[in-house]
Amino acid sequence: MKTIGMIGGMSYESSLHYYERINDQVNQIEGGLTCAKLLIYNVNFQEIRKLMLENRWNEIGIELAKIAKTLEMAGADYIVIATNTMHKLADYIQSQINIPLIHIADCVAEKCKENNVVNVGLLGTKYTMVEGFLKNRLQKNGLKVTTPQMEENINEIDRIIFDELCKGEINETSKKYYIDIINNMIRQNNIEGIILGCTEIEMLIKPNDIDIPIFDTTQSHIDTIVDYSLERKSCTSPTALD
Ligand code: GLU
Repeated sequence: MKTIGMIGGMSYESSLHYYERINDQVNQIEGGLTCAKLLIYNVNFQEIRKLMLENRWNEIGIELAKIAKTLEMAGADYIVIATNTMHKLADYIQSQINIPLIHIADCVAEKCKENNVVNVGLLGTKYTMVEGFLKNRLQKNGLKVTTPQMEENINEIDRIIFDELCKGEINETSKKYYIDIINNMIRQNNIEGIILGCTEIEMLIKPNDIDIPIFDTTQSHIDTIVDYSLERKSCTSPTALD
């Protein structure tokens, strides 16, 4: 069994799901008392969030790379960052360590491809929807990606993530807001699937809420993490797509 090195805490609400499901899935496959060999470095998200709002991404990169290195030195065989947004720094973090970083976008893209879904919508934080770091990686994986375009929508989707979901709050009005946006993308962009590109959105949007398949980055990431942990997939080399 391989040892997982997980950078968590962004938010701890979604890291809880990673912890619980990685162990559950490993146990379901292996039985007995088997659970995952898992190192978690839980960051103080308040400190990271402050740096995000001050646009000090270099400092976040240095901090997360230092954590990845710490996990490597503690015996991790591979690194996972349990948030989509921090994949903005994935290439830099990968460049600072000697073990593979399992990129969340590759995991969810694989699920889309398994289901023959190419034309997808993507919801996530403002960074994830507006910038290219996740979209480009999905596109390199062969997907056609649509994101909400109206600034008002982007800001509200982002606000709901940080003000509600990251604090474990589930509001019906926020759920309806997300569903309306997804339905608009179905009508206007003919998306065939929706990627929940933020590790907390699965707490709000469930498969029965919409008429197209949901591709959840949290669960896709977890499934791949479990496969690598049980060596059903080999993680000997970094996952760069270039
Ligand atoms: N967990 C969220 C994500 O998947 C947002 C938190 C963050 O900014 O890292 O993007």
